[in-house]
Amino acid sequence: MITSEELKVLAAKAEPVFKQFYKKNKKKLEKMDEEIHYLHEIHSATTDCLQCANCCRTLGPAIYDKDIERMAKALRIKPSEVVSQYLKVDEDKDYVFQSMPCPFLMPDNYCSIYEHRPKACREYPHTDRKKFVQIYNLTVKNSYTCPVAYKVLKDLAF
Ligand code: SF4
Ligand code: SF4
Repeated sequence: MITSEELKVLAAKAEPVFKQFYKKNKKKLEKMDEEIHYLHEIHSATTDCLQCANCCRTLGPAIYDKDIERMAKALRIKPSEVVSQYLKVDEDKDYVFQSMPCPFLMPDNYCSIYEHRPKACREYPHTDRKKFVQIYNLTVKNSYTCPVAYKVLKDLAF
């Protein structure tokens, strides 16, 4: 398993190649969802999120009203209490966790609200998304945090 420090170094080295690939292949990428989703499946299946938890430690997922309702049910508190106890508004006016690592990340890297976690947590790192080309540049950023994102881009661009 690549450590978070190793991943940052690898991603920084690869970033110029990732960006160059995008410049040269933007049109081609529009038709590559199937291949990208296949890479997503392979790398998700061979990466143990419980050994990693980088996203839960460092990224602040945007949290929407539906997420707050689900979390309130899971925690058996009111939605307003979820907001006051766990959330703040960020510069994009989205709710995010008040601090990271996430308050629901357990010492063994399990998520204590896993079944009720926010949509952004479920979908991260989004490499199985339709029209992947639209989030290619976001994925370059995510390659510094998520080994799955890094490996998908590496297989594409190298
Ligand atoms: S989604 Fe990516 S960053 Fe998050 S725990 Fe899994 S491998 Fe790590
Ligand atoms: S809610 Fe769960 S999955 Fe989402 S960041 Fe927190 S620990 Fe990770």
